[in-house]
Amino acid sequence: MKRILVVEDEPSIALGLEIDLRTEGYQTELVADGIEAARRAREEPFDLILLDVMLPGKDGFEVCRELRRAGVETPIILLTAKTHDAEKIIGLELGADDYVTKPFNPMELRARIKAVLRRSPADAPEVCRFGDTEVDFARCELHKAGQLVEITPIELKLLSVFVRSRGRTLSRDQLLNAVWGPGTFVNPRVVNNHIVGLRRKIEPEPDAPRYLVNVRGMGYRFDG
Ligand code: CA
Repeated sequence: MKRILVVEDEPSIALGLEIDLRTEGYQTELVADGIEAARRAREEPFDLILLDVMLPGKDGFEVCRELRRAGVETPIILLTAKTHDAEKIIGLELGADDYVTKPFNPMELRARIKAVLRRSPADAPEVCRFGDTEVDFARCELHKAGQLVEITPIELKLLSVFVRSRGRTLSRDQLLNAVWGPGTFVNPRVVNNHIVGLRRKIEPEPDAPRYLVNVRGMGYRFDG
C-alpha cells in the first residue's frame, strides 16, 4: 500500500484529502506545519508528499528545497492557492515533481498522484546519456564513444545515485548512506577513490571534471 504524507494546515481541506486518498486505497499521514513535514519526510520513506505551499513554520517551497538538498527523493506534489505560485514553482526549480492549484478538482489530483507514482520507482532511468557516455543501468553497461567500458558494481551504484539526484549536491555522508547503506562503516576516503575511478570512465578530462563536479566543502554534484 502506498503511503502519502499530506501536509495541509487547513483542517477542512486536510480532512477531505485524507478521506479521498484513503478511499483510493492509499495510506495517509497528516501533518499541519512545515517544520514537522520536513522532519517526517526525512524520518520515513513515504511514496509521495502532498505539500501545501502556505504553511505555518516553514512554507512548502522551503520544505521542498530543504528535502531535496538533504537528498530526500520522495516525489512531491505542491498544492498552491495562487497561479502566481505556480509560476514560481516552475521558476525556482525546487525539485517538486508537479503542482496542483487550489481549489483543485479531486479527480484531477488523483490523476496527478497516479502519474507521479507511476514515474517513480525512485530508481534511476534505465538508460542515461551525457556527452558521449551512455549508461544502461538495467544491463549494467557503460559505453563511452561507442566503446564498452568496464564498470564496477559500486561505481554503477554510485553513478545511479548521482543520476537520480542530478543537479543536486550530495555530501559524502549521503553518498555513503545511499551506496553502502546507513550504519555501514566505510572510510570516507573510499567514496573519493570511487569518484576518481568513475571520473576516469565518464569524464573527457578526469582531472578537470565537468559531469561529476566537486562542490567545495559540500560534496559532489552530477551535472550530466
Ligand atoms: Ca495552507
